Amino acid sequence: MATTAFSQSPSFSKTFYSSLYKVMDGERIQTCLQCGMCSGVCPFGYLMDFPPGRMIAELRANTFDRVIKADTVWMCVSCYACTEVCPAKIPLTPGLMTRAKEELLMAGNIPSELQNALENSQRYSNPLGESPRKRADWAKGIEPEVKILGKTRQPVDVLWFVGDYPSYHPRVQSATRALAQVLNVLGVDFGILGPEENSDGDSQRLAGERGLFEVLAEKNGQALGKYQFNEIVTTDPHAFNALKNEYPALGISYPVRHYTQFLAERLDQLKPFLKQEVKSRVTYHDPCYLGRANGVYEEPRALLKAIPGVELEEMSHNRKTSLCCGGGGGGMWLDGFQWEKAHVRLSEWRVREAITAGASILAVACPYESPRFEDAAKMVQQAGQLVVKDIAELLVMAMGD
Ligand code: SF4
Ligand code: SF4
Repeated sequence: MATTAFSQSPSFSKTFYSSLYKVMDGERIQTCLQCGMCSGVCPFGYLMDFPPGRMIAELRANTFDRVIKADTVWMCVSCYACTEVCPAKIPLTPGLMTRAKEELLMAGNIPSELQNALENSQRYSNPLGESPRKRADWAKGIEPEVKILGKTRQPVDVLWFVGDYPSYHPRVQSATRALAQVLNVLGVDFGILGPEENSDGDSQRLAGERGLFEVLAEKNGQALGKYQFNEIVTTDPHAFNALKNEYPALGISYPVRHYTQFLAERLDQLKPFLKQEVKSRVTYHDPCYLGRANGVYEEPRALLKAIPGVELEEMSHNRKTSLCCGGGGGGMWLDGFQWEKAHVRLSEWRVREAITAGASILAVACPYESPRFEDAAKMVQQAGQLVVKDIAELLVMAMGD
């Protein structure tokens, strides 16, 4: 394994330690109590050679180069669970874990499947390696036509930042089309960037590729700067997180909301269209980057409760304690690696929780989740008839389509 000169230098731990101060509240790392709560709550903490608390102990002992040589840092799915429970309020996920991955990457200590996704992102501006020209193909045939801003060249009220998986993944495209239908029913004046949209880059950033993130953000910033709109609505909580919390530091600053927030605000307008009963016990999975990272818990639930016939049941881990689907922080591109290490998938744990809650529908609001949970349901024997639906798809069902 290659190592950088930086990682071999005796002052590596100290330099790394002080680099963490650049993250908001990063200096709090000095106050670590070594309580181990971060390791205990981490879904893969039991498999990591250096869960967050131990990493800090290595830093204090000036032996952090040992961490860079271990590959189990890649088991971190950037789920914010450690950050949520840390009594010293250390920004572990955006600080320590992300910076550690940056160092692993620079040292060439990176699983090949992640490398592929990063190369695709660099080459095609999306991790799936799809053609940018096909980015708006999902919208073909939708009536009224979805406006592509580069073609219409007219101001819109809402710029819908669609995202990678909603644009390209066949399963997720169904949820994308559903959201387009809901926006059309509500008469929202919206448009998309289409081929000019690039990956938001947030998962690449959390997987240690800060430089690539900045390149993608800059491209998006240039595209956004060409058009007139009042706000951005995202399908993807990761895009929401990037546009809300990361892009402003790069000079790209717009009002942004996740689609569940946007629709929940229009619930009075939406309710008359929700005439069809969806008679089901539904449980909702809080995505890490909508919930823990950004505190959006109630709007998705408000939408689900507005659907006639829906009986909303919580899983034992919900809101701040939600379990990660395993797709964050590069986890989406590390399934093989995670399986090799853990022989268990986080998405299967979540599906089991949904079954225990007695749900027949597992509702999601993040494009990583429909494919992940559907695959997991195939592997969990008791999953039976459990169906995974994006909230937008459930709204369209309730509209009678
Ligand atoms: S939870 Fe916070 S204070 Fe406790 S060991 Fe982890 S980082 Fe340190
Ligand atoms: S962010 Fe999640 S996966 Fe990563 S170390 Fe913290 S608890 Fe573990």
